[in-house]
Amino acid sequence: MQPYVDDSLPNTKLESIVAETINFNFPLVKINESIYSLELFHGPTLAFKDVGARFMSRCLGYFNRNNNQKVTVLVATSGDTGGAVANGFLGVEGVDVIILYPSGKVSPVQELQLTTLGQNITALEIQGNFDDCQAIVKQAFMDGDINAKLSLTSANSINVARWLPQQLYYFYAYQQWQQNEAPVVCVPSGNFGNICAGMMAFASGLPVKHFIAACNANDVVTNYLQTEQYAPKQAIATVSNAMDVGNPSNFIRIQQIFNNEFSSLKNKLSSISVSDDTTKKTITKVYKDYNYTLDPHGAVAYYALEQYHQQGYILETAHPVKFPDVVEEAIGKKIEVPNEVKHLFEKEKQSILLSSNYNDFKEWLMNK
Ligand SMILES: *Cc1c(COP(=O)(O)O)cnc(C)c1O
Repeated sequence: MQPYVDDSLPNTKLESIVAETINFNFPLVKINESIYSLELFHGPTLAFKDVGARFMSRCLGYFNRNNNQKVTVLVATSGDTGGAVANGFLGVEGVDVIILYPSGKVSPVQELQLTTLGQNITALEIQGNFDDCQAIVKQAFMDGDINAKLSLTSANSINVARWLPQQLYYFYAYQQWQQNEAPVVCVPSGNFGNICAGMMAFASGLPVKHFIAACNANDVVTNYLQTEQYAPKQAIATVSNAMDVGNPSNFIRIQQIFNNEFSSLKNKLSSISVSDDTTKKTITKVYKDYNYTLDPHGAVAYYALEQYHQQGYILETAHPVKFPDVVEEAIGKKIEVPNEVKHLFEKEKQSILLSSNYNDFKEWLMNK
């Protein structure tokens, strides 16, 4: 990480931030002879976003250490981002976090992760969908009254501090990779921050035979690699909802790693778009054949890697318990709740219910 940080952080500080960021396991688990799973869900909120959120929160806390004014992090979430950000920032001094999530549209584990932390974390339960939450956040960033009163910042993956540390687990995977040939790496992709981190790791020397960007019905990059036409679309809702992105903001960074040369990018990166129906069938099949439970995002990646017919691994980006409706129907039984989140069910949800009207949000924030 040091070359990316240069002297903006002292080395000892960087070391302690990295140590705190990755103090959980990243096991590479064998599913069958050709496909392994890099499990990124052993962090506090059971999603790979823990890595980026923990790194970013600690950096922000450090950079803000001498400021008198508090920083307010505003995030809209469809589930995973909010939980990871909230958990990463819990107790970080000088930072308040406000999370907007769509009422009734996140799973029980996700909602508890958002609403039971307390301290500097406030959860706003918006009576609307994810787009309503995001629209409120976007408008707040442009609102003169709010910006005169508060110092706002965002925590999405446009911010390089979110995805730079994600390079580290690709190196951990290689440490565990026991084959002679370098692996094909298949990444379930939405905003393309995760796969961008993998390609940065490759650019700095990590052996990777080929990358596959596994997408759901949101197929902008899949189409681009076939046609060389980049045509953003409205996002389509799918069962792998953390990847419902119609215009992935990190793809341009990947193009720059390859000097904007289409043919060299295409040599290293393939992309497949996988339907919801295939995603669910893949969860069923992998459970039956190999007794391994995929979450919907991992299932998209599994199917994509299987089509490629070479040895490699998928990134399993979230624990299946975060998507119980889809997974339990596909495997025909209840998912066991992992010990890491059992305690959540003893806590009480604390959220503030607001309409999706911007003025209600503004009034609440200005009087906070
Ligand atoms: C955010 C997320 C993704 C997509 O990651 P990007 O970096 O946006 O491509 C995939 N799976 C899960 C579970 C996620 O939460």
